[in-house]
Amino acid sequence: MKADLALYGGERAIAPGSMKPWPPVDEADRELVLASLESTEHSFGPNCRAFQEEFAAWNGNRFAITTNSGTAALHMGVAACGCGAGDEVIVPAYSWSSSVTCVLQHNAIPVFVDIDFDTMLVDPARIEAAITPNTKAILVVHLHGLMVDMERIMDIARRHGLRVIEDCCQAHGATFKGRQCGTWGDCAAFSCNQNKLLCSGEGGMFVTDDEALYRDAQALWSFGETRSPVEERDYHAYALGWMYRNNDLTAAFGRGQLRKLDGHLAQIEENANALHEGLLGTPGLILPTVPANCRHNWYNYVVRFDMEALGHAHAPGRYRDRLLEAFRAEGAEVGVWQRFILPAMTVFQARNAYGNGCPWGCPHARPVRYAPEDYPVAARHCDTHACIIMALRPPNGPGLAEATARAIRKVMDNVNHIELDEAVA
Ligand SMILES: *Cc1c(COP(=O)(O)O)cnc(C)c1O
Repeated sequence: MKADLALYGGERAIAPGSMKPWPPVDEADRELVLASLESTEHSFGPNCRAFQEEFAAWNGNRFAITTNSGTAALHMGVAACGCGAGDEVIVPAYSWSSSVTCVLQHNAIPVFVDIDFDTMLVDPARIEAAITPNTKAILVVHLHGLMVDMERIMDIARRHGLRVIEDCCQAHGATFKGRQCGTWGDCAAFSCNQNKLLCSGEGGMFVTDDEALYRDAQALWSFGETRSPVEERDYHAYALGWMYRNNDLTAAFGRGQLRKLDGHLAQIEENANALHEGLLGTPGLILPTVPANCRHNWYNYVVRFDMEALGHAHAPGRYRDRLLEAFRAEGAEVGVWQRFILPAMTVFQARNAYGNGCPWGCPHARPVRYAPEDYPVAARHCDTHACIIMALRPPNGPGLAEATARAIRKVMDNVNHIELDEAVA
């Protein structure tokens, strides 16, 4: 009944205050952070070195560099892979903006490829058509915590002599054919931002197994110097560098959280399974699918609305937003992740990165096209998706996931009462 919906004054499905905040902080975190605070090394210190070593061991990489953001680690990857003026890097048409602006940061040109609707990831079948003589690398994003088919990516890269950069910012612990993300390509970037599965407030991690890439990334990370802050430095800029180093307090927090990461991943998986089971068969909803050879980390559980079945194919984004109001009225944490596909963003439409048309106007560059209509799958996904993120995170258990599923079902079972343009008191 219409009056049952909280949107129209009915009882909420989930009581306020049911969701506990992420991340859980315990005594081990407090001890590490306070010990760092009481120490005398506050910039790149012993916790930074330990965090790098522990993360490299956890993920199975030879080298790791702790950074002040995931975006910094991505930029280091683009630079270390030798992408520069006029070079093109193949990127997905749908992701977080910095998955792609990191390419501009090093004067190189992003070339977009549409996504596959089922996986929501770059469509490997469309990559080869985007390769030109200027292509230097493929930047794959393991979005939402699901890995791209890395066998196909590495095969394309090998045949065309391209580098591969993995954006693992959302993908801690995700695997493809049993092998961890960040160990397939030439190098990879992780984020330790507040929302990520390994949270240190802000921060990131660059990883690689290639010593030359490690050295080049390290130079960019610390002022273009060739020695790390713990080696004897000559304070000389050998190349263009940035200051992307992490600090000791943040790394101490990251180390505390890293010790809990496997436990967190297991809890999130249990919660996501409970949500998924509760949503099976919900009318009008397209649930995420996981290829048999992947471990999804459920950083983000993303559903799509079947707008044809719901009768709102003419205004999918607006109807999606209307449904979100109904979910939120029930007390369910359901949101939108991205409202724009990447090629439609102003930085690409206005080509306003460095001013005066640079880097696209660089004499080494080849003309590229940024027409949003070239990416219909990404656009359809973007307009019809909704996501569940924090309700799946510990210390919340499967109980909240089950309640979230019930709230979503309640709305979808009564969806015929929800109009697009109506005044609601
Ligand atoms: C968060 C995120 C980034 C950027 O990480 P920051 O630490 O916020 O700089 C890059 N790519 C993806 C897919 C992300 O989710």
